[in-house]
Amino acid sequence: MSHVKTAMAFLVLCLMAGPAGAPRAAADAPRGIDPATLDPSVDPCVDFYQYACGPWMKAHPIPPDRGAWGRGSALDEHNLEVLREILDKVATPAPGRSAVERLVGDFYASCMDETRVEARGLDPLRDELQRIVAIDSKKSLQLEIARLHAQGINLALGREYEGAGLMFRFGSEQDARDAASVIAVVDQGGLGLPDRDYYLKDDTESAGTRDRYRDHLTRTFELLGDPKERAAQAAGRVVAIETALARVSMEKVKRRDPLNVYHRMTRKDLKTLAPALDWKKYFDTVGAPGAGDLNVAVPDFFKGLDGLLDKVGLDDWKDYLRWNLARSSAPFLGRDLVAAGFEFYGKTLGGAREISPRWKRCTSMTDLLLGEALGQLYVAKTFGAEGKERTLRMVAALEKALRRDMETLPWMTDATRKQALVKLEAIRNKIGYPDVWRDYRTVTIARDDLAGNVTRARAFEVARRLGEIGKPVDRGEWLMTPPTVNAYYDAQMNDINFPAGILQPPYYDNGAGDPANFGGIGSVIGHELTHGFDDQGRKFDPRGNLRDWWTEKDAAEFEKRAACLADEYSAFVAVGDVKLNGRLTLGENTADNGGLRVALMALEDTLAGAPSNPAGAPAPAGGRFTPQQEFFIANAQAWCSNYTDEAARLRAQTNPHSLAKYRVNGVVSNMPEFQKAFSCPADAPMVRKDACRVW
Ligand SMILES: [Zn+2]
Repeated sequence: MSHVKTAMAFLVLCLMAGPAGAPRAAADAPRGIDPATLDPSVDPCVDFYQYACGPWMKAHPIPPDRGAWGRGSALDEHNLEVLREILDKVATPAPGRSAVERLVGDFYASCMDETRVEARGLDPLRDELQRIVAIDSKKSLQLEIARLHAQGINLALGREYEGAGLMFRFGSEQDARDAASVIAVVDQGGLGLPDRDYYLKDDTESAGTRDRYRDHLTRTFELLGDPKERAAQAAGRVVAIETALARVSMEKVKRRDPLNVYHRMTRKDLKTLAPALDWKKYFDTVGAPGAGDLNVAVPDFFKGLDGLLDKVGLDDWKDYLRWNLARSSAPFLGRDLVAAGFEFYGKTLGGAREISPRWKRCTSMTDLLLGEALGQLYVAKTFGAEGKERTLRMVAALEKALRRDMETLPWMTDATRKQALVKLEAIRNKIGYPDVWRDYRTVTIARDDLAGNVTRARAFEVARRLGEIGKPVDRGEWLMTPPTVNAYYDAQMNDINFPAGILQPPYYDNGAGDPANFGGIGSVIGHELTHGFDDQGRKFDPRGNLRDWWTEKDAAEFEKRAACLADEYSAFVAVGDVKLNGRLTLGENTADNGGLRVALMALEDTLAGAPSNPAGAPAPAGGRFTPQQEFFIANAQAWCSNYTDEAARLRAQTNPHSLAKYRVNGVVSNMPEFQKAFSCPADAPMVRKDACRVW
């Protein structure tokens, strides 16, 4: 089930400057950049990323359970350790455990009890597999699909298992044209590979991935008990169905335009569009009998699916259902299915060499399924009121800088400028954690039943989301849990969201000076604010409605500037002959470019003694770098990353964020401010002749 949001997460993590583990300077002498973290053999004007990150990359190989490793990953790991400490403590029954402690503690205990999970084998799937075998008509097939959707089969349990789920997705979302209300949504889905292109591209690399996917499917069917030949046949059927679904799916880049994925229809319209599905039965069974008008995000997909339902035989569909059941259940079953899943999704696609230890997987699963219960314990342990206050002050400084940027932007007419400023003014800031915590009291958690726990928690989440249909939007809701090391802007809420997980050292550090803090968390804040005005965000008004508030002339000017960025990034090589997709990454690149400029403006305000100074720390005296240089180095070092070839390829093809190197070099080469800070000659590689600038 998916909330089809236009929210855009910051996702790949940024990190503050300053060498990891460096001794803390005295309180009145903020840390500067340690020259030992820089590569003296590289000219910053030639390759700024290599200059700032070379030594770090050399010293930090990718751990075996990851496909990529960046400076932000260490904080990710740290947060997992903090959560583990919390969970270990509450996992044992003790007098005085609160209801929340018991809930997450017992869930974690059931997950860590590997012996019991192993002993139960496939037992938790028996009933459901039986139901699938018993399907004897297209009618009973549809009922089973609705049942599995209601059980949350489409909710991912871990990064190795993310996928679009069974056949299609059904859920609730904020109405794009009426931001105050929640409507039902049906959207494309049903693929086991990360994107439609994986099925349709005919280069050798893609064909090889499909071969290995087919092997993985065969292995999975064997683990379900099929003889080898039967397993191979079933694998072939699944690939055929998914390829057909891929053909009628909309491309990722096209989906970036919110207008392309908004088609409000009555239920009668939907019935006319896809008559082979008994929609009334579906809505009744999935738990949304009252759903009225809905968004049919991709009508062509449902038209195509309708034809497939007719054309594809029942036995083929039954194999497809068995595969989806196995895939979405594997994380809570025995080690063979877990290992098979890792082998393909973790290793072949993701580039990791070893599976994460069980405690990490169990911690992540607790966070995914009971995140606002675990989050309460996390916040109590780590997040103080001062963290919230400090962040709000920085946000204010960044908003002020963005306002000035918009006020002085040469290409915008006053009519559009006025509206943009109204929108900026209306952005709400959510910091740390939700005001009202989700209530999980109706979820039964048993210490000895991991499979049951997951199923009940997923069903709770599905029912919760479907329960919002037809109700006013809850503007206090969060799309990330409090321990998450990330941040996002939500175009329909018109708010920025900073979970507690990112608001701690080393992202923001009282021991570091302003240049480093603005290069770090300041640039993240600027990035999220800019999302309100990127290729997607600009199409929503201050209240979060999809409404065009741009004059024709300004829209054309915007498109011209955006095209400059798209062309720039499309030329960057990810790995081998795979390049970045400048249209897929356009929103993130716009935010990276605008965010860094605005953060620098806010830093300069602060250094000039403007009252918006959030940190109040003086610039380091007598340092080797100017504050501007320190700002740019701090920002670049936040991105230092190593990727396996597999991870780089996957990312370039599916992720809206550019690879780390280009999040640095792609941005600074557009900034005359950078050229000035490092006195780069006009013909240096880090100085683009036709620099791109939107904001
Ligand atoms: Zn972003």
